[in-house]
Amino acid sequence: MRSPLTALERPEYTGERRCWPCTVANGGLLAAACLALALAGRPLLAATAGVAGGAAIALRGYLVPYTPRFAPALVRRVRSALGRTPAERPLAESLAPEGRDGERVLDALIAAGAVVVDGDDLALSPAVRDRWEREMAALADLDDGSLASAADAVLDEGRTAAPISADGRRYVAVHARAAAAEQGAWVPRPAAIADLAAVRALSPLTDLDGGTRLSAARAFRLFLDSCPDCDGPIVETSSASCCGGGVDPREGPQSVLACEACDAHLLTL
Ligand SMILES: [Zn+2]
Repeated sequence: MRSPLTALERPEYTGERRCWPCTVANGGLLAAACLALALAGRPLLAATAGVAGGAAIALRGYLVPYTPRFAPALVRRVRSALGRTPAERPLAESLAPEGRDGERVLDALIAAGAVVVDGDDLALSPAVRDRWEREMAALADLDDGSLASAADAVLDEGRTAAPISADGRRYVAVHARAAAAEQGAWVPRPAAIADLAAVRALSPLTDLDGGTRLSAARAFRLFLDSCPDCDGPIVETSSASCCGGGVDPREGPQSVLACEACDAHLLTL
């Protein structure tokens, strides 16, 4: 039965889509307002406001009008003041160092026969695809420590890899030998499996140097049919929540490929 409250609900800001930073911000403002009323000698009004405000936040996701418009900026300011937490690191971290020229890497892959051009489409060569899939299956069987050691073996001299987990998610942290794992790039486990398998699949192609193989690895994620770790379906989704959760403040909401089953982000498009 449709409850009369249903009409007041705002599904875009509640349920699974509820934005917790907005909810917490509004709850805090409501509590402060109620306290002010109580201290001003209006306890009944404070109680009424508390109940009505709490119901509004529960049903509508927020109380203060325009919260979804101002909260993102507020949250971004707080976040930059605190330093970003692991969950808000850029989504498409990979084993490769930043700043390789994608066009040049693609040309090298085509020249080496790893990627074939078919009209407007690009595809992995059947031999590379086959090696890549076999390597992914083998790497998915490794525990986190062994996966990090395997990643370490393909990294350049100055960098190493360590297993790390946070908020129930598993990562391979790629970091400078001199720095702590926490300061490195955190590659979600399924993405690390795909990247490392790609580097291995390319290793027989001696025309490609180690740096090019590493840089090419991330692009392989575009060719994933299913999650390399849990075999779940891959879907295109948005990194945005109403107050920008998971969004790089410099770039705004982004389209990402993610595993529907284990929720790991695989690639920012
Ligand atoms: Zn998965």
